[in-house]
Amino acid sequence: FSNFLEQARLTSQALLEYGNNLFEPTVRLGVTGLSRAGKTVFITALVHGLLRGGRFPVFEALASGRIAGARLSPQPDDTIPRFAYEAHLDALLKGREWPESTKQISELRLVIDYQSQSGSMRELTLDIVDYPGEWLLDLPLLNLSYEDWSRQTIHLSQQKDRAHLAADWHRDLAILDPLAPENELAAQVAAQHFTQYLRSCRDERFALSLLPPGRFLMPGELADSPALTFAPLDRLDGSAPSGSLWAMMRRRYESYKDAVVRPFYRDHIARLDRQVVLVDALTALNAGPDAVHDLERALIAILDSFNIGRNSILSALFSPRIDRILFAATKADLLHHTSHDKLERILERLVSDAAKRADFTGAKIDAIAMASVRATREANVGGSLQAIVGTPLAGEQAGGRVFDGQSEIVIHPGDLPDDPERIFNGGDGGFRGLASASSDDADYRFLRFRPPLLERTEAGIPALPHIRLDRALEFLIGDRLR
Ligand code: GDP
Repeated sequence: FSNFLEQARLTSQALLEYGNNLFEPTVRLGVTGLSRAGKTVFITALVHGLLRGGRFPVFEALASGRIAGARLSPQPDDTIPRFAYEAHLDALLKGREWPESTKQISELRLVIDYQSQSGSMRELTLDIVDYPGEWLLDLPLLNLSYEDWSRQTIHLSQQKDRAHLAADWHRDLAILDPLAPENELAAQVAAQHFTQYLRSCRDERFALSLLPPGRFLMPGELADSPALTFAPLDRLDGSAPSGSLWAMMRRRYESYKDAVVRPFYRDHIARLDRQVVLVDALTALNAGPDAVHDLERALIAILDSFNIGRNSILSALFSPRIDRILFAATKADLLHHTSHDKLERILERLVSDAAKRADFTGAKIDAIAMASVRATREANVGGSLQAIVGTPLAGEQAGGRVFDGQSEIVIHPGDLPDDPERIFNGGDGGFRGLASASSDDADYRFLRFRPPLLERTEAGIPALPHIRLDRALEFLIGDRLR
C-alpha cells in the first residue's frame, strides 16, 4: 500500500511539473561527474556566459542575437541548497582561484528571455542541478544483496592494480568474524579501512572511477551516520544469525539503499530532462590503461542509471525524461589545440561502447572535449614544437621546482595518439600516459594552473575564455530556444 501511495505522490508531482511546464517551459539540466571533474567551474562559466553574453559563436540563439537577456531567479525546490554562483564567480574573477568543488547536491534557476525563430518573445527557465557523480554509481547496488556486494567488492579489491591499496583493509578483514556478536567499534574500524582503500583508489596516480558506495567518498550531510558505517565482510557462508556482526552490517547496507540511494534517484534523477556528464579523461589517461578501462566501466554504470527510470510507472505515463546526454572531457586547455579532436575521439570511443553495452536507446548522446575556463594559452617556441603557457598554482611542484603562483611557465603538454585504440592497449606500442616532448618535464603533466588573468575593461568584466563551451550549450539547450 505504501508503494501505491508513493507512486501516487510521484505521479501527482510529475503532473504538476508537466502542467507548469506548459505555462513556463522549463529544462531541468543535471550536471554531474566524479569529484574534481569540473562541475563547479562548468556551471559557473556557463551561467556567467549566459548572464553577461559570453563569446559563444556556436551557440546559435546567442550568436544570432535572439537572446535578449538572462537573469537568476529563486529556485523551485526549497530544500535543496542553492548553487553558490556569486561566491564561485568571485573566486575565479577576483581571487583568480578555482572555486570550492561540489560536495553535495545544489540547484540554480536561470530565466532566459529570447526571440523565437518565428519572431515572438518567449522565456525559457533553466534549472541547473549539480550533484556528485559518485552518488549515481550507487544505483547498481539496488539490485545487489549485501552478500553479493561483499563478494564483488572483495573480489575487485584483489585485482592486480588494487590489491596493494587494499592491504590494510584486507588485514582487518581477515580477523573479522562475521558470526561474532555485533560491535559498533568493529564496524567503525572496518568502515574506516574500507573508505581509506576507496580513497587511495581515487588518488591521482591510480585514478580509478568505479568505487561504490559513493557516499563513502562524498558523504554530503551523512558523514559518520550509521547508514555509512558498514563495510563488506568475507567468508559469508550460510545465513546471518541475528545479533551478529554480519546481520548488523547487512541491516546498515539495506538502510543505505532505502534511505539514501532510492530517495536520491526518485527525487532528483527521475526529474531531469537533460544531463551533462563531465569526465576528467586526462587524469585517467595519465594514470594508464587500467584507469581508462575503469573509467569506461563507470560510464557504463552512469548510462545504466539514467536508463532505470524508463521502466517505472512514471515513464509509462510520461515519455522518458532525459532525452539528451552530453559527455564532456574537461580541462582540454591542458593540451595543445591539435589534440582537442583526438581527445574527443577517445571520449567518443569510450561512450559509444558504453552506450552499446548499456543498451541505451531513446536519448541523443554526444561527446566533446572542452574547457569551461581556459587557464592556458598557446605559444610557439622553436618552430614546430607545441607549447602551452600558464601560471601553475602556488605550491605545485615539477622538475624539482616549487611554483609561487605568480610566474608563468611554458611547457610541452605531450600528445595524444591519433588512433584511440592505442589508449586501450597496455602492451608494447600502447599508450603510456601523456608523455611529454622532453623527458625532463615528465611530471609537468600533473600540473594544475591558476585561472586566467582577466583585465577589467571599461565595459566591465570580460567574458571568460573557454574551449567549446558554446558547443556544449548548443547541444544541451539550443533546440529549446528555437
Ligand atoms: P567538481 O568537483 O566537479 O566540482 O570540480 P571543480 O569544478 O571544482 O574542478 C576541480 C578542479 O579542476 C579545479 O579546482 C581546477 O583545478 C580544475 N578545473 C576545472 N575546470 C577546469 C578547466 O576548464 N580548465 C582547467 N585548466 N582546470 C579546470
